[in-house]
Amino acid sequence: MSPMEGGALAKKRKPTTTMDHQTSSSSASVDNNYFNVSHNHVTDNKKNKKKKKKKKRNKAKPKRYSLMSYWELPEYMKDNEFILNYYRANWPLPQALFSVFRWHNETLNVWTHLIGFVLFLGLTMVNLLRVPQVADLLGFFARSTPISAVTNVSRNFISEMEIAAAGHEMSGVAYWPFYVFLGGSMFCLFSSSICHLFSCHSHPLNLLLLRIDYAGITMMIITSFFPPIYYIFQCDPRWQFIYLGGITIMGVFTIITLLSPKLSSGKFRTFRALLFASMGLFGIVPAVHASIVNWGNPRRNATLVYEAAMAFFYLTGTGFYITRIPERWRPGWFDIAGHSHQIFHVLVVLGALAHYAAILVMLDWRNTFGCDNNNAT
Ligand SMILES: [Zn+2]
Repeated sequence: MSPMEGGALAKKRKPTTTMDHQTSSSSASVDNNYFNVSHNHVTDNKKNKKKKKKKKRNKAKPKRYSLMSYWELPEYMKDNEFILNYYRANWPLPQALFSVFRWHNETLNVWTHLIGFVLFLGLTMVNLLRVPQVADLLGFFARSTPISAVTNVSRNFISEMEIAAAGHEMSGVAYWPFYVFLGGSMFCLFSSSICHLFSCHSHPLNLLLLRIDYAGITMMIITSFFPPIYYIFQCDPRWQFIYLGGITIMGVFTIITLLSPKLSSGKFRTFRALLFASMGLFGIVPAVHASIVNWGNPRRNATLVYEAAMAFFYLTGTGFYITRIPERWRPGWFDIAGHSHQIFHVLVVLGALAHYAAILVMLDWRNTFGCDNNNAT
């Protein structure tokens, strides 16, 4: 019943005397008031219950944060004026985490390097589970089981694998520089994904993650030098020391320089890119040196082709990073897909894969010939 209906009922009562009228009308108004009060109480209760339900629903379903335009962004997030929309800003960490499955202008930046990270993790696992370790494990099981026809067969198989493994170990080739490179690449790709996913949370976290991202890029460049310099100059430790020492000092200097918050801003984009590129171009010196030393080695060409592909991917990527092509030509067109940073990310992964292929050629060469015959075919 509504308060309107309550009032109509009170009006229908016919008063007998004035007193009566007064009393009855006053009692009616009391009734009416009571009715209204009790009704209000009921509706209040309903409202409260609804509010509680809403609150519960709000708790169960986190608020869906909306995306914003470049002009609505806080100052610290204004980095690329050619990307106009689909920004996240000041999002809580859980929302930022789950935004990995939402479309915004960082989605593909996160996924391009996350897929790259998983790819390099897979390559690391495959290399760690190589023949020697598998042979060791199988050998352990075979030795601890009684002799039977089945184990005889497995022993033959294992002894073959052990011979192969021994060949690996006899060559005396150290694998640590190869894993240093894989570790450095994984660190770079993973820290980049994390940076792109969470830097929308707050200004302090944004600054911290950007610095970790730059440190990751530097780590990837430094660690990329370890395997080629180590394997090419394996028989001349003096050059190993000079080149690896040189690039490590450059890397440490770069990380210290980029720790300055000023240098994380958009203004210093070109400076940062040139710093990374100059570290990469430092590689020309040992590359020319190595080519002269290994002039007669036919594997030199295969290695050079892969390394040239790597240089092409990295330098083209740096070009996209600096120029912010194609979004500068059509601001707003490439907000979600196709902007320069995504192209740069894909080229970084391709460059790292080309370098990985070059290292496999060098490893195979050293595993086969060791130090005895540097120019062996
Ligand atoms: Zn990035």
